[in-house]
Amino acid sequence: KADRIYNFNAGPAALPLPVLEEIQESFLNFAGSGMSVTEISHRSKWFDDVINDAVTRVKRILQLDDRFHVLFVQGGASMQFCMVPMNLLGAGDSADYVNTGTWSTKAIKEAEIQGKSIHVVASSEDRNFAYIPKEIAFTPDAVYAHITSNNTIKGTQWAQFPDTGGAPIVSDMSSDIFSRPLDMDKFGLIYAGAQKNMGPAGVCLVIIRDDLLARTPGDIPTMLRYSTYANKNSMFNTPPCFAIYTVQLVLKWLEETIGGLGKMEELNRKKAGLLYDFIDQSDFYRATADKDSRSLMNVTFRLPSEELEAALVAAALKNGMGGLKGHRSVGGCRASIYNPTPLAAVESLVDFMKTFERDNG
Ligand code: PMP
Repeated sequence: KADRIYNFNAGPAALPLPVLEEIQESFLNFAGSGMSVTEISHRSKWFDDVINDAVTRVKRILQLDDRFHVLFVQGGASMQFCMVPMNLLGAGDSADYVNTGTWSTKAIKEAEIQGKSIHVVASSEDRNFAYIPKEIAFTPDAVYAHITSNNTIKGTQWAQFPDTGGAPIVSDMSSDIFSRPLDMDKFGLIYAGAQKNMGPAGVCLVIIRDDLLARTPGDIPTMLRYSTYANKNSMFNTPPCFAIYTVQLVLKWLEETIGGLGKMEELNRKKAGLLYDFIDQSDFYRATADKDSRSLMNVTFRLPSEELEAALVAAALKNGMGGLKGHRSVGGCRASIYNPTPLAAVESLVDFMKTFERDNG
């Protein structure tokens, strides 16, 4: 599509073009209903098919067994920062948290606001969150251990998931869900806002294991209880139908066009490798994250000056590449290369960065 740019936004972010085209094509008459998908009832057979297929695909893609429930919740990943401790920690319980950046910090704060007992067992704040902590002493009887699997702002990612000594991992996977296969035996709960790897903003995927679901107390507000969503197939109230529909199509693309998580990871490694290899051989660009902690999704880098960084962002846009400005809290540059970003986009970015270095280095 001649008028579309390569989109390196951090979220909301690029979606697969065939998904956008399918939405466009069926927008006025969804599944022969004579109505738009945004006009049909969430109690209709049409929408039942959408949500059930989305759930089935999540289960198949991640190879979830019967212990896991797939929920669609509103309020974004930020709502999960509060729902997780609210649902999982009762009186006398405590949980571990690892602080690897802005989003972990916010998750910790939401648990503390509620007066929950939590231990921050490791943090990489001492070096501006440029790395993932290692050899962490987790608390043996913690109800869960919370981590942020990919740190969208700082450009770091857990390459391996930690051995917690028994506590199930609760992970914020907003920016790397479905980017690689997972060993689900380690996880008790995963949540992910849709707007990076999965769909539009407005829905958050929550995957929760039976034993954690059973902890949901009855005396918290109905809409904040995981059991409400689990008991009603995420339709206690009107769900974000359009967002869930788009998620369904992205998952279909992931399965049928890409070929599943193994293939997806291969492609993601190739894309990130291309960009990091180029940055590493350059004296002009400098990657900000430690090598062993680098994110395959958000490649953060600096140039010799802030002026050059601003110039690169502007020149890239002129060349059909958008969204390369780093998060406002850290500055610098960031190329977000989530699942839908094609290899051609990264190749094009590297070519552009080479030229920019030649002209400005
Ligand atoms: N966690 C991570 C890792 C994120 O990247 C973001 C959004 N950038 C959030 C949480 C917050 O998500 P939301 O805006 O859906 O609340």
